[in-house]
Amino acid sequence: MTFRFSADEKFALQLDAEDPLRQFRERFHLPLGKDGKPLIYLAGNSLGLMPKAARKIVEQELDDWAKLAVDAHLKAPTPWYSYHETLREPTARLVGAKPNEVICMNSLTVNLHLMMATFYRPTKSRFKILMEEPAFPSDTYAIKTQIVHHGFDPNDALVLARPREGEFTVRQDDIETALEKHGDQIALVLFAGVNFFTGQLFDIERITAAAQKRGCAVGVDLAHAAGNVPLALHDWNVDFAVWCSYKYLNAGPGAVAGAFVHERHATNRELPRLAGWFGNDPATRFRLHLEPEFIPVPSADGWQISNPPIFSMAPLRSSLSIFDEAGGMKVLRAKSIKLTGYLQFLLEQTGSKRYAVVTPREADARGCQLSILVHEHPKELFDKLAAAGVKCDFREPNVIRAAPTPLFNTFHEVWRFAKILAEHQ
Ligand SMILES: *Cc1c(COP(=O)(O)O)cnc(C)c1O
Repeated sequence: MTFRFSADEKFALQLDAEDPLRQFRERFHLPLGKDGKPLIYLAGNSLGLMPKAARKIVEQELDDWAKLAVDAHLKAPTPWYSYHETLREPTARLVGAKPNEVICMNSLTVNLHLMMATFYRPTKSRFKILMEEPAFPSDTYAIKTQIVHHGFDPNDALVLARPREGEFTVRQDDIETALEKHGDQIALVLFAGVNFFTGQLFDIERITAAAQKRGCAVGVDLAHAAGNVPLALHDWNVDFAVWCSYKYLNAGPGAVAGAFVHERHATNRELPRLAGWFGNDPATRFRLHLEPEFIPVPSADGWQISNPPIFSMAPLRSSLSIFDEAGGMKVLRAKSIKLTGYLQFLLEQTGSKRYAVVTPREADARGCQLSILVHEHPKELFDKLAAAGVKCDFREPNVIRAAPTPLFNTFHEVWRFAKILAEHQ
């Protein structure tokens, strides 16, 4: 799809007037700048904005705690004992899964470890992990320590798919070449859905097919993809996925994370895992010390370890209901492609030599984020943007990330951001 854009301010305002999702901005608290006006918040890829409904839903849980105490586990309006179940259906819709394939629990990196406990089972001949570079440091630490935990050396076991010299994103061909070369030694392929640094959207379906053909398990880190791009985890046949919900999912700092286990594994009670009581069959869960044998729930719930963290789950309920109300990821993605496409158009209009967008140009190879590589004095430029009321973020050594999101950003904000950037080039 191509759009005809104009750099005229009136055009930006017109796009907002025609935007069917425009009223969703009012559902969020917009942080204000020194002048008392909302900041141009392009950092939803780092921490999504607070849904106004979050306060009430958290207060409800505080009230239940105050009034019912231990009885709230079973008698609260939303019983705590099964609180995670309220997230199951909306989460499954969001990531393209069956309800029995998803569970909200823990934090992202913890879930990555838990999934690797099941899906990274290295042997002498098949012990390698293929991942992209640059990867988010937490993922790299998790992977390297898993390798060491199993008695292998990351120098031998870690295979990296990197951008070619002079390029910024990883080519699909190079991923497939790495699979051809190392495939029979690779135990696990772990890729981001959307790369945190460059904003590149990987072709998860193709990577999965190529990897599984060579007998490798496939995991995806959706930290920057969940709530950003449509996903079809079940149909793509990935083995597992993990994500956080404080970025595009607007569920608040440290909010409960998610995990996907494909049905063909989720129903398999024999799979090795690290277990806790909430992964156990509810029929015997409360017999506690009387039933020392762990019997996993035959669904993604079988990976749940602890009882649900109510205060970190409550805001996610209000946030996911906004996603549903907006019509789901397909509808949001249509606006997102237009919004980010408009930003790219405006940045190219100014034709600055001071910076270059390193995110892929094709809409199907990126999410909403554009990564702007600044050739000279990147930190100064970033500080000037901040002083002008723009909230985006800076990644060392020289990249400014700007992520206009379809739920709360406007075309006019994108226009103003591009104008501020142009004034400082
Ligand atoms: C944001 C992010 C994380 C953060 O991990 P937490 O466990 O939630 O602190 C990890 N990996 C990636 C790829 C991320 O983008």
